[in-house]
Amino acid sequence: MSSPKKIVLLGATGSIGENTLRVVAKHPDKLELLAIAGRRRWRDLARIAREFNVPHVAIYDEAVCAEARASGEFPAGTKLYCGLEGLIAVSVLGEAQLVVPAIVGTLSLKPTLAALEKGKDIALASKEILVLAGKFVMETASRSGSRMLPLDSEHNAIFQCLQGERKVDVDRLILTASGGPFRDFSREQMATVTKEMALKHPNWDMGPKITIDSSTMANKGLELIEARWLFDLPADRIDVTIHPQSIVHSMVQYVDGSILAQLCPPVMTFAIQHTLLYPERAAGVDATLDFSQLLNLEFRPPDEVQFPCLRLAREAALAGGIATGAFNAANEIAVEAFVADRIGYLDIPRVIERTLESISNHDPDNLDDLLAADAEARRIAGEKVAAGLTPITK
Ligand code: NAD
Ligand code: MG
Repeated sequence: MSSPKKIVLLGATGSIGENTLRVVAKHPDKLELLAIAGRRRWRDLARIAREFNVPHVAIYDEAVCAEARASGEFPAGTKLYCGLEGLIAVSVLGEAQLVVPAIVGTLSLKPTLAALEKGKDIALASKEILVLAGKFVMETASRSGSRMLPLDSEHNAIFQCLQGERKVDVDRLILTASGGPFRDFSREQMATVTKEMALKHPNWDMGPKITIDSSTMANKGLELIEARWLFDLPADRIDVTIHPQSIVHSMVQYVDGSILAQLCPPVMTFAIQHTLLYPERAAGVDATLDFSQLLNLEFRPPDEVQFPCLRLAREAALAGGIATGAFNAANEIAVEAFVADRIGYLDIPRVIERTLESISNHDPDNLDDLLAADAEARRIAGEKVAAGLTPITK
């Protein structure tokens, strides 16, 4: 029997992190945690390190990392690493075979690039890094021969539907979207949305940022851009359909008109396990669909007037250059401001739109150029927030 695959999990204390731990716990003969990383919750990291016998732990926050080191609560022999450098160090450990970036936002960009340079495979949850730097990430992967395994459920579905097919035969990708809690809201009702309302998703149990992004459909916009890079297709060949049940996770339409789909319940362990064990399959963690029960599947086109974030993401994807990174940066700033009660719900797309209008788009020459553009987009979005976008809708 071969030895278990050695995994590095960045973002072990989050929603994807927890589900990844459930998959690892189910398959101790096939999967082993070599390293975990988080931002601040060191007690949780210490518990995971004890439970899974993890030899390497990275903590982003330096002060918290020092506190964790002094605590004596990590198992003897566990090595602690601090800061972004620490996250990079665990991502390039000689023994590491697969790195799972599952940190919210773009912080895992550098650790992921470092892992790719060393030929590690990636099971990607952190879609934002492709939205910011898809060209550089995918080029680095193809240079080193690393595999980019899509962990996001829609992209994982597409990846499964592409197995054994020829890329030239692909006509379109069809991303499914739940439409979030406000899919049946009128424009007037949208203006009354509070953060408490936006933080409740009807189908999925996820971290707070992605839950709000799902309600505005900015998440589907990010996923459209993510798909553009993962599958190397232009954004005008990637469609979105609203599928309220979140059972069909996405589809691939071939040139002959046949459409392949992947189905399972809206639980992340299915996609996570597929990437961790790929190309093997084994019994799953959660129960699958039961066709002895009534199952209705609906599909309808999204309304881009109701969900301007989707339109803005598509426009950014078609524009290319630094526009997709600016879309992501402005969305992050706007969501933060909304959660802090500084702007209203309908201001989220306004901040994004006005930021995209203010940047000067260009093709970035290198990563530093791209990161400078990201910082500039964040600055502009912050200004739009501070200027009090009017009308502020509370
Ligand atoms: P979450 O908020 O539940 O967890 C975020 C994790 O990131 C935590 O472990 C936190 O410690 C870690 N983190 C944040 N900042 C960090 C830093 N500076 N350094 C180190 N670690 C840091 O988020 P989530 O819902 O698990 O989402 C994580 C990523 O996965 C996001 O990119 C999201 O878009 C993507 N994703 C999530 C889901 C889902 O079902 N939750 C589905 C698809 C994709
Ligand atoms: Mg998704």
